[in-house]
Amino acid sequence: MRLQPLPVPTRVYGGEGVVSYSHRLAARNHSQPGEIEIGLRERGVRLSRARCAAERIDVWRQLGNLHPSAFTTPARINGDAVTDRRLCLRCTQGNPAIGRLPHAGLVCLRHKRWIGSSPQVDLRAYSAALTAERHYRSHLAARGVLFDSFAMELGRACANSVFIGIQEIERRRQHTDIETIAALVYPEQVKFARMLTSRTFLEYVTDPAREANDRRARITQEITKILPVWDASESWRVTERIWEVARRLAQLRRESLLWGTPIRDSYYNLLRFIGRPDLVIDDKWDDYGIRPSTYSRGDHTVADNSPV
Ligand SMILES: [Zn+2]
Repeated sequence: MRLQPLPVPTRVYGGEGVVSYSHRLAARNHSQPGEIEIGLRERGVRLSRARCAAERIDVWRQLGNLHPSAFTTPARINGDAVTDRRLCLRCTQGNPAIGRLPHAGLVCLRHKRWIGSSPQVDLRAYSAALTAERHYRSHLAARGVLFDSFAMELGRACANSVFIGIQEIERRRQHTDIETIAALVYPEQVKFARMLTSRTFLEYVTDPAREANDRRARITQEITKILPVWDASESWRVTERIWEVARRLAQLRRESLLWGTPIRDSYYNLLRFIGRPDLVIDDKWDDYGIRPSTYSRGDHTVADNSPV
């Protein structure tokens, strides 16, 4: 049975999910999604109670008279869950909407806005963040690195304003009139994430056959390229953070040589960027039943989003 679209048409925004859309469509038709779904069931329409079941999604596509491509953004990429988040309020004409944007980092390039936190912020005065977003999209998103992935969270932790230099952050703040620290340090966050997913870098610093001193020195050397304002009293903290990850990855590589199947945790996902045939070829991540909550966010504590 083909359903009649609801009387007041409502467009779906790029990446918007069915939960967000159904609320907006129902509200514009002076109702609520639950009421509409009860009405449909009473009329004999089969409708799962699961929020994102295929048949439920199809029903809302019909009610909104939407293209079949609506609500088809993948839920997982390379084993990482694609997290729902608030869409750019300019893209949605000010209507709060939630969806998945795996191609985007923390910036809407169309409107030059920071969408990484609330309130969203105008970035037109801060071109470095826009450049960082372009780099994120072409070098990270293109390889399946999501905005809240382990590499990006570790990048954020390394891009702490104390490490970058309080004076430098103050200079950016005054120059741009932007108060959101996460936006001000976004260029460094993306650079660190690129470093952490660079094949040559990872190959070197996680190689269990190499001397620890050499691997550690390489980490320090790469960090100084990103943080030119180098405060010796803080430098060791960034090196320590990345060194801890490198040691863990080296251990996983060693285990994989011994046992073939290392433990899969959030650190392990970085190894896919090395692309070693003994590690991740034909690896079907979903087969391991790793939940998003424990996989990409829960079992590590690298994020440091506290205002500094
Ligand atoms: Zn936008």
